[in-house]
Amino acid sequence: MKKLVCMFFVLLFVSQTSFAYPKQHPFPPFHIAGNLYYVGADDLASYLVVTPKGNILINSNLAIDVPMIKASVEKLGFKWSDTKILLISHAHFDHAAGSQLIKQQTPAKYMVMDSDVALVESGGKTDFHYANDPSMFFSSTKVDKVLHDGDQVKLGGTVLTAHLTPGHTKGCTTWTMQVNDHGKPYQVVIVGSLNVNPGYKLVDNKTYPHIAKDYQHAFKVVKALHGDIFLGAHAMYFDLNKKYQLLGQTRSNPFVDPAGYKRHIAQKEHEFTNELQRQKHHIEQ
Ligand SMILES: [Zn+2]
Repeated sequence: MKKLVCMFFVLLFVSQTSFAYPKQHPFPPFHIAGNLYYVGADDLASYLVVTPKGNILINSNLAIDVPMIKASVEKLGFKWSDTKILLISHAHFDHAAGSQLIKQQTPAKYMVMDSDVALVESGGKTDFHYANDPSMFFSSTKVDKVLHDGDQVKLGGTVLTAHLTPGHTKGCTTWTMQVNDHGKPYQVVIVGSLNVNPGYKLVDNKTYPHIAKDYQHAFKVVKALHGDIFLGAHAMYFDLNKKYQLLGQTRSNPFVDPAGYKRHIAQKEHEFTNELQRQKHHIEQ
């Protein structure tokens, strides 16, 4: 009987932690360009920036996927304990739930955009949209350094710039950095997220009154950035799999895709504008 009860709790735990979120599958870690590497899963993207003073990890993903990120870092020949800075794309559980575990396992300082700090430190409980949805909660994690729009994160000669691209979350952050690859400089853009999630209220939003204006600001910001190497919080934004298959097959690096970056922004802005019009129209009726 005891065994059965134990089994029940194990099942309950598993079903609560895996709920409806698509299971992440390992993706081979690889070198993108310069000192930038891919260490994420097949959908949830994580990046490792390697410097002589230690490494920067962008996105901690789901807590259950932390061992997968660690294995990817080590497979590339780098040390997990060299992770000195941890950054995120935005404070949703699928990019930030693993942060507490990473902070326990490494000396990483957790740096988060000011308007996402409360969300990270409350473990998702202060989310403007998901505050009543425990399936979106995660371990609350202490932020070590609060970042502001335009701040630079520097380590071992590498500079990452934090661009506030709000809307998806209030502190959604798009990261840029310059890498040098085969003697050529490239601007890397890691899009935080321009998605309007299902159910997001763009009009008359009581918990985020200026949401539509924030999205519009985010589009203005990403359009003004030049993106040679186009990356993002989810692999699907930039077609990771297709580009990975092309690595080594073409003379140019398939991740150098400024046209793809522009297409992605245009597509997301189109979706946002349509949804905003639909909601405005709905309210007028
Ligand atoms: Zn999100």
